[in-house]
Amino acid sequence: MLQVCDLHVHIGRSSSGKPVKITAARDLTFENIAVECADRKGVDIVGIVDCASPPVLDDIRALVDAGEMVEQPGGGLRFSRGRDQVTVILAAEFETHEPGGGQSHHLSYFPSIKALSAFSDEMGKHVTNLELSSQACRMPAVELMEIALGCDAVFVPAHCFTPHKSPYGACVERMSEMFGDAWESILAIELGLSADSYLADRIAELSEKTFLSNSDAHSLPRIGREYNILEVEAPTFDEFSKALLREEGRSVVANFGLDPRLGKYHRTFCEDCEHIAVGEPPVLECERCGSTKVTRGVLDRIVQIADYGEPHPPDHRPHYQYQVPLQFVPGVGSVTLNKLINRFGSEMGVLHEATREELGTTVGAKIADLIIQAREGTLPLQAGGGGHYGKAAPEDTGQLGLPGVS
Ligand SMILES: [Zn+2]
Ligand SMILES: [Zn+2]
Repeated sequence: MLQVCDLHVHIGRSSSGKPVKITAARDLTFENIAVECADRKGVDIVGIVDCASPPVLDDIRALVDAGEMVEQPGGGLRFSRGRDQVTVILAAEFETHEPGGGQSHHLSYFPSIKALSAFSDEMGKHVTNLELSSQACRMPAVELMEIALGCDAVFVPAHCFTPHKSPYGACVERMSEMFGDAWESILAIELGLSADSYLADRIAELSEKTFLSNSDAHSLPRIGREYNILEVEAPTFDEFSKALLREEGRSVVANFGLDPRLGKYHRTFCEDCEHIAVGEPPVLECERCGSTKVTRGVLDRIVQIADYGEPHPPDHRPHYQYQVPLQFVPGVGSVTLNKLINRFGSEMGVLHEATREELGTTVGAKIADLIIQAREGTLPLQAGGGGHYGKAAPEDTGQLGLPGVS
């Protein structure tokens, strides 16, 4: 069976109102995420990455006690309400520090509440504010990985190229240096919004790794802006981990993600004059004012450290399908968004299935055209950088066809 999986979603606060991720929206509770996935997004499996937080663990246990979520024999929790069904994979994101400098984020996915609790207890010894998400644990990544694997986790380096908190963006040129012998046992890496498979396949050491494209959502509407299609036998943790291993016919069969130009860190950004680079990558200082105070772009970093000038995708690499989430389509506000989702069942239905005519009768020809252009990859885009999302630029075709972006 094919399953739509978004494996990086943050929790805003616990049901008791305790903040978990300060920057995440207030309505991003455990329960609301499950409902949003099942009801509006068409997501079958969701990884929630703040589950090691004790108030979140309390929420999880309460939902299980109330019979709203059931632990699956193959791992993962099944949430059902009426027609709405989704599998929740318990996960935790932590920030590590390399001895040579640089911080990076890593995801650990757990089969059960028991495994997660053991991990949470251990991390409590290393972290000051365990309640809050993505906390610094003052150890190198390889040590965090050892703790996670000791609790039966699957360990995945997160948004691997972003400038501030990632292995390639902030720590090393080769992850095999960072992890040493443990590198072999990493099954998958997360690409992040500003990268895609074509860019990552320019780095030789990644060829054996499965790529994940996840939303890193900090609010409900952003769930599913990136996701993976898994071929599995059942929506469980064991099947998810087999898919990452590409074992017994299980695999990630497609990645769906933003055109990387829409990501917040695609190109180098000047902190002095706020210019986002447009020239041939790598741009490592500002092309407008010459400043070296820049936030290096993901594209610029990949070109800087790449082994190959062109992508070298291995045979197992699935198709990477671009999608422009409805939030990025000009003219689609919350009223239009609700109209579209009510008419077509889910955002995926609108983005990938609805015909131009059906869209036109629902929201008018102009927006229908933009959605179709977005689907076909012809909507002109302006690259993001320095924490600013890229955007659709229907009036301005000046930045189409950036070098190095397929
Ligand atoms: Zn992160
Ligand atoms: Zn500048």
